[in-house]
Amino acid sequence: MVRRDSDHQQLALLADLAVPIEGQPPPRSRIYCNRNLRLDQIDMVGFDMDYTLALYKQAEMDRLSIEATAKKLVAKGYPDTLLSMTYRTNFPIRGLLVDKRLGNVLKTDRYRYVKKAFHGTRELTSDERRQAYQLKRVRPDPRRYHSIDSLFALSEVTVFCAVVDALDTPLSQVDYGQLFDDVRTCIDEAHRDGSLKEIITSDLARYVEHDPDLAPTLHKLRSAGKRLFLLTNSEPYYTDAVMGFLLQGGLPEYPSWKSYFDIIITSASKPGFFMRNDLSFEEVQSNGQLQPQRVKELQRGRIYRGGCLAEFEKLSGEPGDSVLYVGDHIYGDVLRAKKESAWRTLMIIQELTDELTAMEKLTTEIARVDKLERRLTALQDGLRERQTMLKALQKVLDEPGAHSERTVERQAARLRLRRGIDRIRVQIKAVEGEHAELEASVERAFHPFWGSALKAASELSSFGEQVERYACLYTDRVTNLMQYTAGHYFRGPRHRMAHE
Ligand SMILES: [Mg+2]
Repeated sequence: MVRRDSDHQQLALLADLAVPIEGQPPPRSRIYCNRNLRLDQIDMVGFDMDYTLALYKQAEMDRLSIEATAKKLVAKGYPDTLLSMTYRTNFPIRGLLVDKRLGNVLKTDRYRYVKKAFHGTRELTSDERRQAYQLKRVRPDPRRYHSIDSLFALSEVTVFCAVVDALDTPLSQVDYGQLFDDVRTCIDEAHRDGSLKEIITSDLARYVEHDPDLAPTLHKLRSAGKRLFLLTNSEPYYTDAVMGFLLQGGLPEYPSWKSYFDIIITSASKPGFFMRNDLSFEEVQSNGQLQPQRVKELQRGRIYRGGCLAEFEKLSGEPGDSVLYVGDHIYGDVLRAKKESAWRTLMIIQELTDELTAMEKLTTEIARVDKLERRLTALQDGLRERQTMLKALQKVLDEPGAHSERTVERQAARLRLRRGIDRIRVQIKAVEGEHAELEASVERAFHPFWGSALKAASELSSFGEQVERYACLYTDRVTNLMQYTAGHYFRGPRHRMAHE
């Protein structure tokens, strides 16, 4: 039998796919695993668009968003100086909480204790922090606290803190809740009225990264027999513009960006998409109008809007646990998908690149911090032990009529204990000093104001805890999937209890 060229190509491709990639990819191209996941058991891979397939150039986006917000705030009656102020776009990180009552921005650890707090861009001292939050866990009451879940929302914090700095004087009474709501309304309006999207779509190369590996990554998944879908909250026209830009000049086999996907859902209103079960899809025609007939089938090459998870599962015929969904929003994409469906999740965390760079640079310092912590624990144990012994000895010496031939010996022992305690206290002070200094410099290397986004000192931050709890996998960009075979078995870390 004579094989045709296309058969040879097909066989070569299959042979390619069958060869396992040896060893681990370099740390920055790696996909990290919290919970075991076998890619060969995944039949369908879905993608969010903004900050997932489309990585935005953060500095340009922040500038655009801040300018539009400042203009709208001034139109609402805020001072004109907002238009000419300097905004520190490197100030916020993801996972912060805005305290709308006190006008502070907080970083909490996995147990929701406040570990760092800023009022405007001034850091609160530990006394101020203790006074404001009384060492209690922060209850996630949305009337008081607002969580910064996505990179889109960073500019909300930048503007809020800059305006707090500008308006807060000893004589003024700022309504922080009102101010934060105004900032959010203005940013939302700028996104909703199309003014920002118009600027972005008119110069996409300025605002969106073009990654030449994206088309081959999607192709690799398709070649391994996986169905792909897009599920984005962005409107159809904006999705069309951005996806066209991302996949332009991709692979000749794909005449349009739409041919990479089996199903395309826009204006999905996540997290509502995962929580409602009564919304049907609508088909968007090429002129932007909606098709009046009810959608009974999700067809390739068409663009749909709206819908909900229940309808999606019915029409796609895909059981939940064979779907992998890739998104960047801890609440809208990852947490809701995990809680409401059986979908597996891969979270895109762009910050990971900086975190890994800092970790690489600071290996020696981080090891030294760990060593100092162990030393401190040992010294404190020694101190407590000697204090208990001293107390017991003192009690014997204080007993009425306790004078005996051993008194002198006991007094000498008491003196030795006191000297020992003094020596340990001096050592503890020195170790604490070195530890505090080293830890602060390690934190500054991660981020000048907040330290690592995923850690809070030796604990996980609340953001890090959510990533660990809800994301099966995480990485800094979709194209890292290129590093793995389509049947790769991602294995999570073996959890150990304290006694193991
Ligand atoms: Mg997104």
